[in-house]
Amino acid sequence: MEDLFVIVGGGLAGAMAAQTLREEGFAGRITVLCAEDHRPYERPPLSKAYLSGSADRESVFVHPDGWYAEHDVTLLAGVRATAVDPQAHTVATSDGSLLRYTKLLLATGSTPRPLPAAGADLDGVHYLRTVADADSLAPRLVEGARVVVVGGGWIGLEVAAAARAAKADVTVVETAAMPLQRVLGREVARVFVDLHEANGVRVISGASVRELLGSGRVETVKLTDGTQLAADLVVVGIGAQPNLELAVDAGLDVGDGVLADASLRTSDPDIFAAGDVAAAEHPMLGRRVRVEHWANARHSGVAAAKAMLGQPVRYDRVPYFYTDQYTSHPSIGMEYAGWALPGEYDEVVFRGDPAVRPDASPEFIAFWLKGGCVLAGMNVNVWDVQENIQALVRAGYAGKQVDPKKLSDPDVPLSELVP
Ligand SMILES: Cc1cc2nc3c(=O)[nH]c(=O)nc-3n(C[C@H](O)[C@H](O)[C@H](O)COP(=O)(O)OP(=O)(O)OC[C@H]3O[C@@H](n4cnc5c(N)ncnc54)[C@H](O)[C@@H]3O)c2cc1C
Repeated sequence: MEDLFVIVGGGLAGAMAAQTLREEGFAGRITVLCAEDHRPYERPPLSKAYLSGSADRESVFVHPDGWYAEHDVTLLAGVRATAVDPQAHTVATSDGSLLRYTKLLLATGSTPRPLPAAGADLDGVHYLRTVADADSLAPRLVEGARVVVVGGGWIGLEVAAAARAAKADVTVVETAAMPLQRVLGREVARVFVDLHEANGVRVISGASVRELLGSGRVETVKLTDGTQLAADLVVVGIGAQPNLELAVDAGLDVGDGVLADASLRTSDPDIFAAGDVAAAEHPMLGRRVRVEHWANARHSGVAAAKAMLGQPVRYDRVPYFYTDQYTSHPSIGMEYAGWALPGEYDEVVFRGDPAVRPDASPEFIAFWLKGGCVLAGMNVNVWDVQENIQALVRAGYAGKQVDPKKLSDPDVPLSELVP
């Protein structure tokens, strides 16, 4: 019987899976179902260079235009998978077809969480997930525009930076005590607040949106404490939820994602999951994690393809992500590796000075430790240290302690601290 591999979801994970299948010599049929009208593209530029106009449309695509035809991959752009039948091994699609599969990959990604407030459907309220979202938002980020960003997460803060670069008047509203506190904890979240304030952003923390007001178009953002913010534009970035509907309807095990083992196989032996939608067992962390970042989409797409081919796979890359915010001082380019949620670490060690000054960008590495073991590390405007940081994280998760004094001392090479 001919091998028919179907990939549902034409994002980075799906594109990398298709590429890997061919690189590994798979000679069967590959079909990629892509709900959006485009071939697979990368999302990070949508809140950075593409949003601010310094990168063009062509630069965001994962593969050149002809790649899919050249590699005999059937790319069905604008076609959505509507149902999966694991018994019959079929996928129903929005164009009325029924595709048979021998192995299936779910790489359906995630969708922005809608703002739960009256008036959220007014014109001028934007989300940022797709290239179409970026195309609609970019021309509105102009000098003097009053932009209210709801949610001080990565996307919200990157949009704030792009809006400031366009000389817009920007306010960020965050429910927690500080933007990014939920991911980084207060010690390092503080650095990002300082960065944005130094760049002229007004940060309002500990506040939620009660309602958006306007006649047809948003004019005012009303907060729960009664504050009213005049707005020409509202950008909502309050997190994303995994696109689980197909998996749920197909009867797969799901939780905060499609549950998968360390080979990215779901509860059905012929169905795999990768990228934002997968909640996979992570051997190093000893728990299931769902990672909503570029590097995970890229590498888990590769790993899932290998697993679909029957190769032994143990997907245990150290979780990694990056951000770039602002292009002139003070600015931050950073990489983060590891896993250290607030409440799970007992100490943050800085190597270098995290203070944000108006005329200079901070340069430092932060480490999150528990019981002397490194759980995560973040390099800010310091480069070529990821290999050592990831080695320290692996050692930390294996229970090996490091001397915090040496960790904080820039004169002690990091490589000397890696056991
Ligand atoms: C604006 C923005 C900026 C980001 N910046 C960074 C960054 O700086 N650093 C970082 O590490 N990460 C960043 N990320 C996160 C990163 O882009 C995501 O983790 C990554 O895109 C996930 O890839 P994916 O392939 O799993 O899913 P997606 O990219 O979401 O792709 C899934 C695709 O599947 C399609 N689909 C869904 N359901 C179906 C269906 N039933 N049938 C067919 N197709 C379907 C969707 O329409 C979508 O096109 C950013 C994300 C966004 C939105």
